[in-house]
Amino acid sequence: MSRDYAFDVVIVGAGLVGASFALLLKRKVPNVRILVLESNKSIPSSKIAVADSDIRGIALSRDSKNILKTAGIWAALEKSAAPIESIHVSDKGHPGTARLNRSPDDEDPLGYVVEGRWLSNSLNENMTQKKIQIWYSTEITDTLIEKDQVRLTTSKNNTVIVAKLLVVADGVYSKIASQLGFWVKSKDLGQKAIVASVTLDRKHRGIAYERFTQSGVLALLPLPTSMGQSKVSLVWTQPSEFALQLEQATDVLFLDELQAQFGYRSGIFIDVSARTSFALTTSFAEEMIRARVVLLGNVAHSLHPVAGQGLNLSLRDATGLAEAIASASNANKDFGSVCVLDKYRKDRLFEQHLIAEFTGNLPALFSSQNIVLKLGRNLGLCSLDLIPILREKFLNFGINGKVL
Ligand SMILES: Cc1cc2nc3c(=O)[nH]c(=O)nc-3n(C[C@H](O)[C@H](O)[C@H](O)COP(=O)(O)OP(=O)(O)OC[C@H]3O[C@@H](n4cnc5c(N)ncnc54)[C@H](O)[C@@H]3O)c2cc1C
Repeated sequence: MSRDYAFDVVIVGAGLVGASFALLLKRKVPNVRILVLESNKSIPSSKIAVADSDIRGIALSRDSKNILKTAGIWAALEKSAAPIESIHVSDKGHPGTARLNRSPDDEDPLGYVVEGRWLSNSLNENMTQKKIQIWYSTEITDTLIEKDQVRLTTSKNNTVIVAKLLVVADGVYSKIASQLGFWVKSKDLGQKAIVASVTLDRKHRGIAYERFTQSGVLALLPLPTSMGQSKVSLVWTQPSEFALQLEQATDVLFLDELQAQFGYRSGIFIDVSARTSFALTTSFAEEMIRARVVLLGNVAHSLHPVAGQGLNLSLRDATGLAEAIASASNANKDFGSVCVLDKYRKDRLFEQHLIAEFTGNLPALFSSQNIVLKLGRNLGLCSLDLIPILREKFLNFGINGKVL
């Protein structure tokens, strides 16, 4: 016999976005009853277990730092984060380079870099501290959307749950969104992002590099010093076949190719960690909400990692959604209603489109053989360095993820 459990909000997916949203919502509406369902067995919670997991260097904007502060995890996370003091953007084989530096009056650095594993660890530890219920190894097997609630059957002994709102945050290949028939427009880019940490022969001085090449984009992000060694986090996008060769290459061959593509602007690469890779898909949900259901994180929009904006954008969405729920609940309104959710959608849509367009167009522009475009993009980078107003706009995008 199965038993019904009642919650206010059920979040599917305890990834970076689902977990951040759970904490933000708990902060804004302390008495809210939240349940998080996660298909993974468990997410590492001890620092030993965490050592082998997600080594992606995630660049966080100033906004994101403040959001993570509100979520209550920044104080613990800060020691695992490296400040970005300067951003250098260049194009292999062409002279244009844009340099964006922290100004002496700036209280904060341009942003921070933290490895996914430490962020995930802090989020999960904090959910446990806040007594947010998480059911691991659990998926939804059936969903019924009723007038006042959503009824979910789970794989955990067929337990049935009812909730006022279902937040779908189960990632880019969302089972739930497709079961419910949400229309998500997606594109397989035929590329992979190779991720590793690389040891330098000198200090990185907080410089984040982004280098565009014919076949892909290369980013080197500063990491906190580890056992006296200066390390950077590498994200290197390449066509899938070549990416596989790079992933399987010996460390020496890998570092040789990296040095050839990147040059010596950050010094000599002396060591590389084990590599992992991510197949790149961009997607955008044409439908983001329905009565009692909202899509959040990668299921709502998955961006090319070129400008490091996916999580930054989703954290601002998560804040907007938590605020919408808080104000509806303070006004005794039904926060799962179309009316409340549609207002949230409209508030977020412009920025979501803008950033998806901006990050979606950059790689195409930089891999184009078209001479006019090539000229234009070099002029673009040079002028970025030379014309303060353009620099301002680009800098604002890098720091706050806002183009305007
Ligand atoms: C190489 C790379 C570098 C990046 N760098 C940056 C950066 O510098 N800055 C930035 O802002 N963004 C960056 N991003 C983007 C960022 O990583 C994503 O935006 C973010 O991780 C999305 O998180 P998510 O929680 O939506 O999805 P996911 O991380 O995919 O989490 C989904 C969760 O749902 C669970 N799940 C899946 N299916 C089910 C199911 N059926 N039931 C229950 N649970 C389920 C999964 O196990 C997982 O825990 C980068 C991305 C890549 C690939």
